[in-house]
Amino acid sequence: MSEGLKIVIVGSGPAGMYAAGAILKKSPESRIDILDKLATPYGLVRAGVAPDHQTTKAVTRAYDKVMENANVRFVGNIGLGSDVPLAKLRELYDVVIVATGTPKDRSLGIPGEDKAGVFGAQTFVYWYNGHPEFREAVLDLDIDTAVVIGNGNVALDVARILMRTAPEMKDTDLAEHAAEMIFKSPLKCVHVVGRRAPENAQFSSKELSEFAELISATPYTDKEKLPESFSSDDKKEEKVVNTNLDLLRSFEQIKPGIEGRSIHLDFLASPVGILGDERITGVRFERNKIVDGKAVGTGETYEIDCQLLVSCIGYEMGMLEGLPVEKGIIRNDEGRVAEGLYVVGWAKRGPSGTIGTNRIDSQNVVDRLLADFEGKGNSARTGGDGLDAFCREKGIDAVSFEDWKRIDAAEVARAGETSPRRKFVRTRDMLSLLRGEG
Ligand SMILES: Cc1cc2nc3c(=O)[nH]c(=O)nc-3n(C[C@H](O)[C@H](O)[C@H](O)COP(=O)(O)OP(=O)(O)OC[C@H]3O[C@@H](n4cnc5c(N)ncnc54)[C@H](O)[C@@H]3O)c2cc1C
Repeated sequence: MSEGLKIVIVGSGPAGMYAAGAILKKSPESRIDILDKLATPYGLVRAGVAPDHQTTKAVTRAYDKVMENANVRFVGNIGLGSDVPLAKLRELYDVVIVATGTPKDRSLGIPGEDKAGVFGAQTFVYWYNGHPEFREAVLDLDIDTAVVIGNGNVALDVARILMRTAPEMKDTDLAEHAAEMIFKSPLKCVHVVGRRAPENAQFSSKELSEFAELISATPYTDKEKLPESFSSDDKKEEKVVNTNLDLLRSFEQIKPGIEGRSIHLDFLASPVGILGDERITGVRFERNKIVDGKAVGTGETYEIDCQLLVSCIGYEMGMLEGLPVEKGIIRNDEGRVAEGLYVVGWAKRGPSGTIGTNRIDSQNVVDRLLADFEGKGNSARTGGDGLDAFCREKGIDAVSFEDWKRIDAAEVARAGETSPRRKFVRTRDMLSLLRGEG
């Protein structure tokens, strides 16, 4: 077992936090700095998970325990690439673990994607969750129809949040700027469109069932397109799909028209063009059929008029100097990128799986790196002291875990009676609070 390793983890999302937890368990004398470009920790748990799914966000309590360990430091408000080069971190620490997630939206690759009113899921979700870099991403929701592309849980999140009303969101931490826009939007209809068949959709039944509970929108799907039942050798999958098909069938029986608002779940169609001049006015779709398990275009097209498109088809790694990005992830061999350089989480394996999936994955990478460093602790590298000196020299106002706890307490204190927190959405406001300039 290695001892006294100086380790830096870049990214404080689930993958980085599980990696830190695994290191503490197996090599408790290691010193771990967890960097994040944001002043707030925990990645997509704060900025991705839907604001009306507060129980999911409770996972951060376990991450707090890791952060509170005497050998762990949170160093927020310092970005890899933007503030500190990878080469510097590799010089300062024995081990660098990249846990940046996949911060870029995958593009649809069709004409018109640059039109106003067209968003990737990450941008849209970050906007309603108050990510400081996306506060201004959406300028208005003066729209009557939205199209959401994708058949996974994120597509359902986006459609649901767009249709939720103020009373339904009162005990959530939806960002204030988004709440204002969503609740006054005249939006009447959201189409959620998937390229494959209903039985291929990746929704979880729990997430799909939330549509039936919406106060002011009726879910609808075309029963003609639903198979009688689904069978598979994978009995777990068979159960989930059949539950989803039952839910979809039950939607059709709900009378459309509560307050005239509806969510339509459409299947077997791919977007082929975005219509409009500077602003989106509609989407052209091609109908698909399934051939040998794949969605194939039939040549038949149709259009949906809309003023908003959110494409929820996945994410990828952007370029980061010094890192081999290939096919949307950092090229790696079971988490190892190069000597002393590792990757975990979505940056390692792509954007799939739940928060919990990252746990085992990070543990496996940590096992590997500790084996690589067996007996190689106590190097002369300066670790956290060196990073502090670098921050002083560059004038970087790093945010500690104690600082974050003050931001956290202030967000909770300024929330209403029922809301869990009212988020700060500008880093400068958080820094003013900390440095007494607010
Ligand atoms: C919209 C959405 C909703 C989701 N909802 C759920 C859900 O309800 N339940 C569930 O189980 N899973 C959910 N997931 C999946 C879950 O969030 C992911 O599995 C998990 O967050 C991936 O962890 P990660 O640590 O790899 O990446 P992330 O969570 O993205 O964390 C990456 C961290 O790295 C930081 N970072 C990025 N670039 C840099 C840089 N250059 N320098 C420094 N720091 C950087 C980021 O600020 C961030 O804190 C959802 C995902 C999305 C996108």
